[in-house]
Amino acid sequence: MGKYLIAGNWKMNHLPSQAVSYCQTLSSEFSWNPDVVDVAVAMPSTHLALAVETAKSSGIHLAAQNLHWEEKGAFTGEISIPMLKDLGISWTLIGHSERRQYFAESDEDVLSKFKACLASNIIPIVCCGESKEQRESGKTEDHIRSQLKNIISNIEADAKFIIAYEPIWAIGTGLTASNEQAQEVHAFIRSLLKDKLGEKAKDIKILYGGSVKPDNIEGLLKENDIDGALVGGASLDPSSFGSMVKTASKL
Ligand code: PEP
Repeated sequence: MGKYLIAGNWKMNHLPSQAVSYCQTLSSEFSWNPDVVDVAVAMPSTHLALAVETAKSSGIHLAAQNLHWEEKGAFTGEISIPMLKDLGISWTLIGHSERRQYFAESDEDVLSKFKACLASNIIPIVCCGESKEQRESGKTEDHIRSQLKNIISNIEADAKFIIAYEPIWAIGTGLTASNEQAQEVHAFIRSLLKDKLGEKAKDIKILYGGSVKPDNIEGLLKENDIDGALVGGASLDPSSFGSMVKTASKL
């Protein structure tokens, strides 16, 4: 396995003026081995320009939480890849379940974003995950397969992207998938990648997200196919996020 990736997702939290001090606190109070762990934080787009320099000098990858696939045009409220690149941002989340649920983002939209990212050297963290009902009716794998089918069929061997498995029932609920439940789905996702990429599938990072906290991250990261975490609520406080980065750095 390669390096871990610990990524925070602030969602619609914190003020732009807090972004710089967050990066400073994270890097001054916590040290991590950059050969072992990469650190990323997905902030609201209003924060990115302010934090980009501090993040860079702190060894933190800044990520957007969403983008539009068109380069420019009449898409009020959206941000484009050239806008992000102009700021020096080269990572983004796409297809987060909150975007799918509250903003009606479809698999087709996510695919358009994915293709635009790959064409522009932006690293997308593609989110997928089943609802409680889908899990309880034994449809987890079918759902993940259908969410990822077109994404995976569009990748070339050298594509740079990350997948985040985030069961919807575990996001922001305090319910975490057990290490075994998470590993089972990660292994399934790895098998889908393997069908397309062969042995290179092991180089694609698959993050787990869903109520990851300082007290459960270690067990999750020790699983074979869990290459890191996407952390929402527990990333808001740099101390709690930093302690998870430190845990990964010591494994
Ligand atoms: C997320 O929003 O990506 C997430 C995993 O949230 P939380 O950690 O709060 O469950």
